[in-house]
Amino acid sequence: MDTLVRALGAEGSVRAFACVTTELVEEARVRHGTAPTATAALGRALTASGLLAGTLKRGQKVTLRILGDGPLGGILADGTAEGAVRGYVQNPHVHLPLRRPRKLDVGTAVGRGVLHVTRDLGLRYPYHGAAPLVSGEIGEDLAYYFAQSEQIPSVVALGVLVEAQGHVAAAGGFLVQVLPGTREEILAYLDAHSRTLPPVTALVWRGLRPVEILQVALGDLPFRVLEERPLRFQCTCSVKRVREVLTSLGPRELGALLREQGRAEVRCRFCGEHYLLEGPALHDLLRGFV
Ligand code: ZN
Repeated sequence: MDTLVRALGAEGSVRAFACVTTELVEEARVRHGTAPTATAALGRALTASGLLAGTLKRGQKVTLRILGDGPLGGILADGTAEGAVRGYVQNPHVHLPLRRPRKLDVGTAVGRGVLHVTRDLGLRYPYHGAAPLVSGEIGEDLAYYFAQSEQIPSVVALGVLVEAQGHVAAAGGFLVQVLPGTREEILAYLDAHSRTLPPVTALVWRGLRPVEILQVALGDLPFRVLEERPLRFQCTCSVKRVREVLTSLGPRELGALLREQGRAEVRCRFCGEHYLLEGPALHDLLRGFV
């Protein structure tokens, strides 16, 4: 099962999150039919939204939009405090030549552009921040976003290991954030330590759980686990939502759809689910207008 761990380190001066997302990234791959480079990019975005959701309270949501000029087009991923993660990539069939053995070229596939982070905290307006994409590798871009837009020095690692057959063999990540007022030596230690770490996919591949990944990520810093929550791929779409969308077309367009095609096919962008409403169901919706 995929899980996320939330912890406080170095006497509360560091907050840290780690997750394993192998199952939910594989589910996203199957649902969207992504090619390996697209799988890695989408998987990193989904992992990032899972980590960011770790900072939320019940009922809150975070949305990550990665709008690069590379062949993948936009990537969107969101996550809830309850551990539901979903997302999609505009061009799921993109695959680029490997940069070196086993190294998918996510940076080129994403390109340069802007990373947007929106947190819906249940207040009147959502909190929104943005920063330029520095490499398109997503992990680096998110670290840059935190430093620039939120002034929080952060170590971010996101990784997806895709097998030769295209399946997801390992996925996960961690986020370590230095809170305001932290001593310089802790910051310096984390900075130096983060340069010595193996790729996070190697840790997940070896079977490490999120708490063990945190041990590696934090090195000599003592930490206390606050919580472990399950993560899963889950969408909010439903037949009811599809009926609402169709109803919002209005009687004229809905009538035309019924006459010309006799049915309506809708595919959810977020999860790839197909909904098919046949003639009688459309008649029912139309009847709602009289
Ligand atoms: Zn859906």
